Amino acid sequence: MTTGVEGSTRWPAITKNVAAFPVQPNLLDYDAARRDFSWDQARQALAGLPGGRGLNIGYEAVDRHVAEGRGAKEALRFVRADGGTRSLSYGDLAEASGRFASVLRSLGVGRGERVFSLLGRSPELYVAVLGTFKNGSVFCPLFSAFGPEPVRQRLHLGSGRVLVTTRALYRRKVAPVRDSLPDLRHVLLVDADGGGEHVPAEPGTLDLAALLSQVDPVEEIADTQPEDMALLHFTSGTTGTPKGAIHVHDAVAAHYATGRFALDLHPDDVYWCTADPGWVTGTSYGIIAPLVHGVTAIVDEEELDADRWYRILAGQHVTIWYTAPTALRMLMKAGAERAAGHDLSALRFIASVGEPLNPEAVVWGQEVLGLPVHDNWWQTETGGIMIANYPAMDIRPGSMGRPLPGIEAALVARDADGKAVINDGQAVLVTDPDTMGELALRPGWPSMFRGYLNEEERYRRCFAGGWYLTGDLAKRDGDGYFWFVGRGDDVIKSSGHLIGPFEVESCLMEHPAVAEAGVIGVPDPVAGEVVKAFVELKAGHEPSEDLQLDIIGFARKRLGAAVAPRLLDFTTTLPKTRSGKILRRLLKARELGLPEGDTSTLESPAAPAAARQDRP
Ligand code: AMP
Repeated sequence: MTTGVEGSTRWPAITKNVAAFPVQPNLLDYDAARRDFSWDQARQALAGLPGGRGLNIGYEAVDRHVAEGRGAKEALRFVRADGGTRSLSYGDLAEASGRFASVLRSLGVGRGERVFSLLGRSPELYVAVLGTFKNGSVFCPLFSAFGPEPVRQRLHLGSGRVLVTTRALYRRKVAPVRDSLPDLRHVLLVDADGGGEHVPAEPGTLDLAALLSQVDPVEEIADTQPEDMALLHFTSGTTGTPKGAIHVHDAVAAHYATGRFALDLHPDDVYWCTADPGWVTGTSYGIIAPLVHGVTAIVDEEELDADRWYRILAGQHVTIWYTAPTALRMLMKAGAERAAGHDLSALRFIASVGEPLNPEAVVWGQEVLGLPVHDNWWQTETGGIMIANYPAMDIRPGSMGRPLPGIEAALVARDADGKAVINDGQAVLVTDPDTMGELALRPGWPSMFRGYLNEEERYRRCFAGGWYLTGDLAKRDGDGYFWFVGRGDDVIKSSGHLIGPFEVESCLMEHPAVAEAGVIGVPDPVAGEVVKAFVELKAGHEPSEDLQLDIIGFARKRLGAAVAPRLLDFTTTLPKTRSGKILRRLLKARELGLPEGDTSTLESPAAPAAARQDRP
């Protein structure tokens, strides 16, 4: 079951000279780190609640540092629209989140009850997340650009008891649907006074600032236990309703260990994760992992803009940067000259997640930013990074890297219907190198989701023959590097070949005129399916029949006629999720006139993330 595509292996490996690194990486010897690692050992690096009362992410992320004398250290540095900054120390965060927990207690919000947020990346959001943990309640962040229906649907599915939001967002997105949310008892507005004393209060809401000023921080953090629910993250299903993935306090052991190995966090780092906490990356690695490691984390309150981002990287002396392929492609599109003149010498490590990282982007990092980009792989359900490229390890551009210490990954064979092959209760594994199978993980790591809220059967179906099945297809080379092929649903079957859209897209992006590409299969009476590409051009290139033929010819030369796109359309707006993933299933549904399925996470075509100005 090979794809028959040479694809990314054509890019030479990027080798490392660890001796020249400014900081010695946490993971130096991959095999030794895997051999010596255990999750219990990772748990021992955590403090646990004082008096052995349990484990609470809020304590590990914040109060622990205060207890150990690091309260004055800068925890979060927010970069405002005008480029100015405001900071919260670990001590400030401990105090503010303690007050937030107190407010929840005073409102009678109990353990396990759900607190939602619909906020931009403002300090209140971070305080609310940590305060919710400290109260023993469960946090569910929503992306502030969601429309009223996705907001209503998630609040309803998650039985949201409290919502923290702004006046404007409440008015536009929640007030119209409030009547249909009987479980939603309290709406806390972070700007209830609307910036002026004479603005009338919004009916049915409370003024968070006033409530915070009336209470003292909680004296005792809730004695949550490792298996108590801490976070609820909605992830979109390919069809039907979004799924609420449940994560527990024990997940912090994985955030700690993966932050150490895959992001190489050291206490002196200035770390910038560009993801919004509305997505799991923005919570696990925009809040929890950096704070647990006691670093200073940058939060940009604005949206992607090439010049702004270079200014932040340089001006804030960012040392570790965790971003996404969609953002990197956007910077590539903006042109290398935009990076020129910015002093990026503080930067020592760049990582990316969320989508396949085209080899082109890995190498672009090396050429333009002075460092290659390290791809890593995980999903909402895994709660933390599972497969990664590490600072001390050579990069094979186009590969996701190797499994984290403590993580056992494998490829499970699939039958003709795409179902995992199970024999005598055991999954049949694909062991030949460079052969495709479904990426699977051995259950048991601390940040593994513990369920889909109220959907026991859907959860059960994710496991078979002793493995958690990820729904992604991948290959592994002879040295244990994993290579992403595609989501199970996105793979194309053409004349007996199984074709991963990513390899075709990456090849198209090597054409000098192509900025971005999305590839799908469309039905064909002879081949079953043929490959169709949707291509966005770089500035300065116009669609034409000649260019279309040129790009197809270019792909053919590299991929062969069986795999190269037969059809190619130019587009200016590839459909993407708000977190930047190309929605191939939507391209396909639109192409074939099929139902579009769940589109609640779809980026509005009129306002792509890069240009959006809809600050709450
Ligand atoms: P979500 O849970 O919504 O964040 O989406 C997770 C999915 O994103 C994975 O199952 C993959 O299909 C895709 N994904 C995440 N990271 C990578 C990566 N490094 N390479 C390829 N696909 C990725």
